[in-house]
Amino acid sequence: MRYCVVGGGFSGAIVARHLAEKGRQVLLIDERAHPGGNCHTERDASTGVMVHRYGPHIFHTADRRAWDYVRRFGTFHPYINRVKAVSQGKIYTLPISLLTINQFFGTTMGPAEARRFIAGKADRTITEPRNFEEQALSMIGPDLYRAFFYGYTRKQWGIEPAELPASILKRLPVRFSYDDNYFTHPWQGIPEAGYTAVIRNILSVPGLEIRLGARFEDIEEPFAHVFYTGPLDRFFGFRNGRLGYRTLDFERFEGEGDYQGTAVMNYCDETTPWTRISEHRHFAPWENITSGRTVCFKEFSRLSGRNDIPYYPIRLVDEKKMLGEYLSMARATAGVSFLGRLGTYRYLDMDVTVSEALSACDLINQTLESGQQLPAFFTDLTA
Ligand SMILES: Cc1cc2nc3c(=O)[nH]c(=O)nc-3n(C[C@H](O)[C@H](O)[C@H](O)COP(=O)(O)OP(=O)(O)OC[C@H]3O[C@@H](n4cnc5c(N)ncnc54)[C@H](O)[C@@H]3O)c2cc1C
Repeated sequence: MRYCVVGGGFSGAIVARHLAEKGRQVLLIDERAHPGGNCHTERDASTGVMVHRYGPHIFHTADRRAWDYVRRFGTFHPYINRVKAVSQGKIYTLPISLLTINQFFGTTMGPAEARRFIAGKADRTITEPRNFEEQALSMIGPDLYRAFFYGYTRKQWGIEPAELPASILKRLPVRFSYDDNYFTHPWQGIPEAGYTAVIRNILSVPGLEIRLGARFEDIEEPFAHVFYTGPLDRFFGFRNGRLGYRTLDFERFEGEGDYQGTAVMNYCDETTPWTRISEHRHFAPWENITSGRTVCFKEFSRLSGRNDIPYYPIRLVDEKKMLGEYLSMARATAGVSFLGRLGTYRYLDMDVTVSEALSACDLINQTLESGQQLPAFFTDLTA
């Protein structure tokens, strides 16, 4: 019997390739018309720009294995994400750095002085922050919090920051240097030919049939085992309810030349309904497109409805309870393993997705060779 992999994103593609390389017959299905999952990239027909269809994706990692793996399947160009932000009618740089602080407060402080200054702004009456808002106020005080966090977080999550857990903001969200590299990982890049080309190359292996535009629910073939990277609640027909997600609406617009001079512009004020605008030609600077039409996307966040694409898991108290029920159901179901961001209901960056899929492959191999049953999950999901 064949093995079935549901989902053609990084998770599914890596597992499918591994199984096929080990001489097993595999069917990979995805209900979309393309492989690549949410990392899918395609040439915009009107402007010729390489577009990240489900939102901008920058590969960044400190995981050597994940970095080496993806580069086997495509050339990655170094890419540093330098995010700009509009707040209260002015433009700043994010994450909050010495430049942001000095611009915001109209000062010329050095690192030590700025550190003391921000410490003086922090709300010291909050000794045990109970939520995101209190955590932010206890670290940076009300001015920076209001300007850069409050409105953006409300738009992104649709609830008051005081209703979000404090754990979201683990470290001080401020840098006392002029480093404007959004990520801190040593390896950062974007594939020259786009993510879908990388994933197509991963999938290019004998013994692997790819069926696009096919829903798992409609497949009747019996399988030796199913590796499911779709939504966990959907696998069980939403029997215990729907796990909450935020979805995104992208409003596409074109312009002439360079619209905003950078790839990502965040909009921090609550009065602006979108969270950010991304201009995709800037994600491929090596293509050197300096003139002609440009394509941008305004991003709006809202609660995911029945027919929406689930993007960010909400994971508040109610969802965690329901998740516990689905995890138990999955553990009691033989013949299926769940992985990836949707299969485990977690936000995962691409490098973590790749790393977890590679670790799953190690275990899949050992387990199948020893004739044991594969687990429902390959990762510890108790946290
Ligand atoms: C807006 C946004 C921006 C992001 N930016 C970054 C970034 O800059 N850097 C970074 O590292 N990560 C980023 N990520 C995370 C990245 O998208 C994920 O790490 C990655 O997509 C996870 O891959 P996956 O294979 O687990 O899931 P997915 O890519 O979602 O693949 C799952 C696939 O399964 C298919 N499927 C589901 N159910 C079924 C079914 N029943 N039948 C058939 N097919 C089904 C879906 O169509 C989908 O193609 C971002 C995520 C979002 C939401």
